[in-house]
Amino acid sequence: MGRLEGRSVIITGAGSGIGRAASLLFCREGAGLIAVDRSEQVHETVKQVRDAGGTAEAVQADAGLERDVQGFIAKAVSTYGKLDGIWANAGISGGLVPLAEQTPEHWTEILRVNLIGPFLAIKHSIPHLVKQGHGAIVCTASVAGLKSGASGHPYAASKAGVISLVQTTAYSLSGTGVRINAVCPGLIETGMTKPIFDNAKERGTEGKIGQLNPLKRAGQPHELAAMGLFLLSDEASYVNGQAFPVDGGLTASMPYAGKPI
Ligand code: NAD
Repeated sequence: MGRLEGRSVIITGAGSGIGRAASLLFCREGAGLIAVDRSEQVHETVKQVRDAGGTAEAVQADAGLERDVQGFIAKAVSTYGKLDGIWANAGISGGLVPLAEQTPEHWTEILRVNLIGPFLAIKHSIPHLVKQGHGAIVCTASVAGLKSGASGHPYAASKAGVISLVQTTAYSLSGTGVRINAVCPGLIETGMTKPIFDNAKERGTEGKIGQLNPLKRAGQPHELAAMGLFLLSDEASYVNGQAFPVDGGLTASMPYAGKPI
């Protein structure tokens, strides 16, 4: 039996990268999925799920808009009769804009998608999860929310905000049986990081990618999907309120350029 057999699960940002890998994995594990993305690529994700024998519906929506969030949560409940889990994973990087050139509008859009999006997913899924006395939420943060040096200021601040949101929500959910955790990806090869990989290939420096972590490589989307699956499944029944780096050991080590001892 699959680890999400009979479970109704929503994934945002399901059109690409980590969200697509998670969609395929969760459906192999028996989930009935609502795959959400603002890009039409979400239809390709659902096609791949169905081709593999899984059950999924696509919703093209903006995960940072309250009416859209209400809409895809209602769709999960009407399609599968309940909601068991949600992975608020949609995010944007905003690029590397110098501090002096950043505008409030730039900050507002990144915070809207990366932080208010997860807040809305939490706000509108909680009534369904609490009513049935169990369920799980996962939010995608980042190593950039733990340490500096990995991204621009608004992105890092949005992801630090996600970690705090997860911790404070776990506390708010005391006694309900509903769990919430965050995942903090390191450098993962997805649509978001494609320019890094493309530039390195162009310059012939692919070998330098991922060298700052002890595993000496970038991660792949399925390696995040596996963590999401664990956190949403009953195997993680006593795991709550935490932020888990999935980063090859990046945040566990100092940026020391010499030979390992
Ligand atoms: P990706 O670009 O491949 O996928 C992100 C998906 O989110 C895209 O399909 C995009 O269309 C969708 N999206 C963006 N804004 C949206 C919105 N408002 N509403 C609905 N969908 C929206 O990138 P990814 O790496 O798979 O990103 C997934 C998550 O992982 C993001 O939250 C990102 O910040 C986080 N993350 C990624 C990395 C990395 O190295 N790739 C590192 C740390 C954190």
